[in-house]
Amino acid sequence: QVVNYAPFTLLPSAVPSALFEQAYAVQQDFNLLVDAISQNKEFLEHTLASTIKVDDFTARLFRIHLQVLEEGLAQSVFLGINRSDYMFDCGVDGTPALKQIEINTIAASFGGLTSRTAAVHGQVLKVLGKSKEASHLLPNNPSKGLALGIAKAWELYGSQSAVVMFLVEEVQRNIFDQRCVENELWNRNIRVIRKRFRDVFDKGSLDDAKRLYMDGQEVAVVYYREGYVPKNYDQQNWEARLLLERSRAVKCPDIATQLAGTKKVQQELSRPGTLERLLPGRAEAVARIRATFAGLYSLDVGEEGDKIAAMAIADPDRFVLKPQREGGGNNLYGEELRQVLEKIKDSPERTSYILMDKIKPQPAMNYLLRAYSPLQVSECISELGIFGVYVRQGKEMVMNKAAGHLLRTKAIEHADGGVAAGVAVLDTPYLV
Ligand code: ADP
Ligand code: MG
Repeated sequence: QVVNYAPFTLLPSAVPSALFEQAYAVQQDFNLLVDAISQNKEFLEHTLASTIKVDDFTARLFRIHLQVLEEGLAQSVFLGINRSDYMFDCGVDGTPALKQIEINTIAASFGGLTSRTAAVHGQVLKVLGKSKEASHLLPNNPSKGLALGIAKAWELYGSQSAVVMFLVEEVQRNIFDQRCVENELWNRNIRVIRKRFRDVFDKGSLDDAKRLYMDGQEVAVVYYREGYVPKNYDQQNWEARLLLERSRAVKCPDIATQLAGTKKVQQELSRPGTLERLLPGRAEAVARIRATFAGLYSLDVGEEGDKIAAMAIADPDRFVLKPQREGGGNNLYGEELRQVLEKIKDSPERTSYILMDKIKPQPAMNYLLRAYSPLQVSECISELGIFGVYVRQGKEMVMNKAAGHLLRTKAIEHADGGVAAGVAVLDTPYLV
């Protein structure tokens, strides 16, 4: 096995403090929204109806969702860990605005590693003789915040001897990020096991009360760091996923919450009136959420979708075309966007995509440090993520928090892709 350091910027990047505070201030609202969507069967059904006709992956997730509901939910404690990602859109007058890129409701990563980046950048600034600037870097510890959520869910599940199961990838590339969260749990005397879908297929079982057992050990919480892209599943893995979803264990996230994070749901949320219906009586939360939305457009079959497709083909550089995928590297831009839309504009296939306004941040210079890559100064843009954690027991929210932040920076040549995709690197915000 080969161990590399995680990629990072040499220097922290400037982030407007007003936008940073705005992103923190809206996180509890987003937690409530995701949780509300996950409990709204009609909304998910209606919103995803066109997508599941053409996107097999979303359709399979949706079938499990329906099957579990039909059988009756065994789970009564719900744990959400999400990360809402933003860029700073530079308006015509040069004023930056906070615009959401997406919200990740499953396997939102780098909360562990980024708990260490402020110390790295503090050290670099001190070496440069900038101790005063170093002291301005904010403390940030998402791994602790995420672990507190998992610990709360474990406690409410109510069995001292039950374990927390991290559901991990076949090839564990990001293990150290996960270990940061895991160690916080061990520090609280909560046992953690790491298993793959195929271990669940081989050794997982439910008892009469749908308690989940792995190899005879009761599981209180299943924390997915896997299972968000089609390549994570073969037939056995789908069966394992179904077993987990049917169980009483707290899934982070349950399958409805995973569906709440799809790009199609994000697009439907931007329709006038939708947020108000999902969060009745919470006008201020709705306004805070809506202020972060960029333009989002449906490509569903019909007149509205025809118009949108024509608009994008005429001016492709204004937009991003997104399929229902996670993990970076799937979006289409510019000429490629135009070509693909030309090809599928008269076919139902286009409904597997959504269209979004392209956010245009102001670039800044930095060095990106990556194992085995030459060091050179690059023009860069950054993406800010805020971690959200919440726990619900039955109908009652017992925890709702913002749990820290993540700043990722990439060279402007790359239109798309995160840290795991080898494009972005870890950074620390320097508030200005
Ligand atoms: P994924 O689920 O693959 O992470 P995202 O929606 O986060 O999908 O898109 C991946 C990357 O593409 C983002 O990290 C960002 O760099 C870029 N991107 C996505 N949407 C936009 C947009 N509207 N404007 C500019 N860049 C975008
Ligand atoms: Mg993303």
